[in-house]
Formats: sequence, structure tokens, C-alpha cells
Amino acid sequence: MSDALMGVYNRAPVEVERGEGVWLHARDGQTYLDCVSGIATNALGHCHPGLVAALRDQAERLWHVSNIFRIPGQEDLAEKLTRASFADVVFFANSGTEAIECAIKTARRHHAAKGNPERIDVIGFAGSFHGRTYAAVNASGNPGYLDGFGPRLPGYVQLSLDDAAGLAAAIAAPTTAAVLVEPVQGEGGARALSVEWLQALKAMARAAGVLVIHDEVQCGMGRTGRLFAHQWAPGAEPDIMAIAKAMGGGFPMAACLATRDAAQGMVVGTHGTTFGGNPLAMAVGNAAFDLLADPALLAHAQKMGDRFAAGLNALVAGYRDVAVDVRGKGLLIGVKLVVNNREMMATAREHGLLVAGGGENCIRLLPPLIITEREVDTAIDRLAMAFATTRRRMAQAA
Ligand code: PLP
Repeated sequence: MSDALMGVYNRAPVEVERGEGVWLHARDGQTYLDCVSGIATNALGHCHPGLVAALRDQAERLWHVSNIFRIPGQEDLAEKLTRASFADVVFFANSGTEAIECAIKTARRHHAAKGNPERIDVIGFAGSFHGRTYAAVNASGNPGYLDGFGPRLPGYVQLSLDDAAGLAAAIAAPTTAAVLVEPVQGEGGARALSVEWLQALKAMARAAGVLVIHDEVQCGMGRTGRLFAHQWAPGAEPDIMAIAKAMGGGFPMAACLATRDAAQGMVVGTHGTTFGGNPLAMAVGNAAFDLLADPALLAHAQKMGDRFAAGLNALVAGYRDVAVDVRGKGLLIGVKLVVNNREMMATAREHGLLVAGGGENCIRLLPPLIITEREVDTAIDRLAMAFATTRRRMAQAA
């Protein structure tokens, strides 16, 4: 591997050449069933013909114009997103962490516009991940992402998800601006928050005039079987939400959605971007949205999630020495292991299956939402082979 790249990634020795649906073809001839999907990004599979056509068509007409002009496709996609959600307004960005940055700024400006500029604190949770900007790593509070980057920023409070008293006190504090939470934690290990937890948070926050921000960068856009994960929890709609990943099916784009009230401070000049919402992104984003918001696809994702859960639970029951738990929601699936998750990722690769890692020693399965029943069964069979190989190796090593 070339040393001309900044060494920030722990890359697996896989060089992908071509993708089609849920399958990836590597340069060495290996074919993999892809249950990583660019970490929940290729939700429509690789090279979906509808997305390819939209990108190709737009590439021949117009690539880029500044946001100082009206941009083809932006207003359409914003209308679609607001019609399908709690939100009234949308800001388009390029990556999940930028959408989070916009969400935090929106929350603070909301309070400043209302005459409460002292409300700056953003409450985040252990195990969360919101991206890599300075604000995002401070919001998640994970020391691994903060070490060596200078002082922690003021205005961020970290709690554990089960600290109900701490959360109530933090929400009641006069300097609190917002609570930032993933309805299903992704990097933290596919941890789904309960409907009741999300509803109670919203009720408490609303009573205190504190905004709720959902990070649906990973769990949103259909992955749980609803377009947005919080839609499983009626009444728990956020005031602000960040989305990215699946919304472009692999083309970089993101969005911060907000109610008009929450976004009241985001007036001309307060925020902006060169590339966010550019014509190429909007062409792909509109095509992807129409496919992802299709109730038939959402129902399919839920059904495939149930099939995975049943198959994986049965598998884990026979391998208590290898794995202990299946968790997550829909097609954001975690399997908590006894054995090392990094080693399991490598063993799964030996059997032609790509899975991602996750917190609490999980592997995550994040397949494209278009995965078929047969492909779900193939994924489970391949993971079963990886479990068997692991067990055999443990016995040999003993
Ligand atoms: N938020 C969540 C929940 C994520 O999973 C991620 C990325 O994995 C991000 C934010 C950051 O997104 P990006 O890598 O596009 O900046």
C-alpha cells in the first residue's frame, strides 16, 4: 500500500473493482456479498441503473453552480424531504458531519434569535458517533476521537443513555440548547433506543424549551424500514435532523432538516457551502429519494431485517462461544461477539462476506435495502461458515 496516503485508516486488504447490486468484485477475482454498503451508504446497491442514469444525464448538462443562484433539483428535493417528515426547511451539505455541524449551529442560533444566547450546551451520549469535525467529536465525547486535538470545546455535555436523572437535570439547566441523539446508534454497536425513551426525551425537552436533534445519518433513509428511524416513535419527532449516507446512494451529499421555528436564527449569511446541494448531487438525490421513499421498498427492508434477525438469532443460539447477542433495527444489525470483532471481519471475508465493525465488540451488517431473501440467506450461511471456522481455530489454538 502506498505511503502517500495519510495513515488514518485501518484498511482491509481488499481492492474493489466493480459493484453490482449487493455484490462487489475485487481485482483478485474474489466476489463478496456486501453487508457493509460503504457503511450504510449504498442503500440501493451498487450502480443502481436509476441512479447511474440520473448522474449521467445531469453530467452532460450542468455540474456546478454556486448557491448564490437557484440550483436545479434543490427545491424539488427539499419539497420531497419536508413533505415526508416533520421538517419545514432543508440545508444541503456534503457529508454527515457537516449536516451535524449545521444542526448544532441551527440549535444555538435558535436560542440566540429568541434572546437566550447563553443556551449553548449540546447534550450528547456515550457510544454516539456524529462525524469528525471538531464540533462533532466534542458532541460525541468519545476520547478516542478527541485525544491530541487540543482542548475540549466548551458547550458539550456527555451522558450515558441510561442516566435518566442526569438527562432530566441537563435538560432543566438554563444553558442547555439541544439534545443530540442517534435513534439507533450505528458506530456504537447497532443500539436501538426504545420508542418510550425517544418519546420521553421529546416531551421533557419540549417542556424545557430545549431542541431535540436526531442524527439519522446512518439509521435514516429507510434502513430501519421507515424512511426515518424516529418515525417508529410517534410524537418523538425532532426539531432538527441530520441525514446523509443513503440519501445519495454513494454520491456524497447530506442535509440538515429543521422546523421553521427551530431554524428561525438561520438567516442570510449565517451559514453556507460551496458544494452542498450541487446539481450532480441533487440529480442523484432526487432519483434516490423516489426509490427509497417507496413504501414497497421500506416494507421490503423491514421484512429482510426480520429475516436477518430470525436467522442470526438461530445462528447465535448455536454458537454461544462465539457470539452473544443480535441487536439493532431493520437492516442496521449488530451481532455482539465473544471473539474479537476485527478477526471476525477478516474471517467473514475469507468466506466471501463483508461486514463492518462496531462498538461493544459488535460486527454490523448493513446490506443494501434491495437485498433479496436468497441473498439474506446466503449472508447468514457465510457468517455461519465464519463462525464455524472461528470455532475450529479456537479449538486448534487451545
Ligand atoms: N453521524 C453518524 C450517525 C454516522 O454514522 C456518521 C458516519 O459514519 C456521521 C455522522 C458522519 O458522517 P460523514 O462520515 O459523512 O461525515
